[in-house]
Amino acid sequence: MREALSLARAAECLGEVPVGAVVVRSGEIIGRGFNSPIGEHDPTAHAEIAALRDAARHVRNYRLPGCALFVTLEPCAMCAGAILQARIARVVYGARDPKTGVHGSVVDLFAVERLNHHATVVGGVLAEACGQVLSDFFAARRAAKGFEQGNEKGNDFVSPEFTDPYLAG
Ligand SMILES: [Zn+2]
Repeated sequence: MREALSLARAAECLGEVPVGAVVVRSGEIIGRGFNSPIGEHDPTAHAEIAALRDAARHVRNYRLPGCALFVTLEPCAMCAGAILQARIARVVYGARDPKTGVHGSVVDLFAVERLNHHATVVGGVLAEACGQVLSDFFAARRAAKGFEQGNEKGNDFVSPEFTDPYLAG
């Protein structure tokens, strides 16, 4: 998770929402990724997707059975889908995402029995540190933009109520 956190900080350096992820097999990191939808002009460029792509290329297999995915933020629906497609065995995440998290924050996709693959999921690992990097990012963005409530058009990332829930962890 510490490696995922340092990848989150790498995303932050590029002006992206700081989320990082790694894929681990037999104790070895085989895939790394960080959030980069803005720079990549790609709505699917979440940390988990990037880490899964990296790992799948590494092992030359689109299935990653027996692997664990560590990510600093609760996965969204898109990433949960990719995790299931990749047959990831275990997901470990840090902070909860009250807006798009699908391990119980909004819905619990991992608990849907009728889906054909199931990963075990554990949340709250280094949650405070993982949430703090997000809160710091949004606080800095608000400060830089001289944000006033209701003044920011088309960017819900910088709404004041967005950051604090991460710390509730
Ligand atoms: Zn996602």
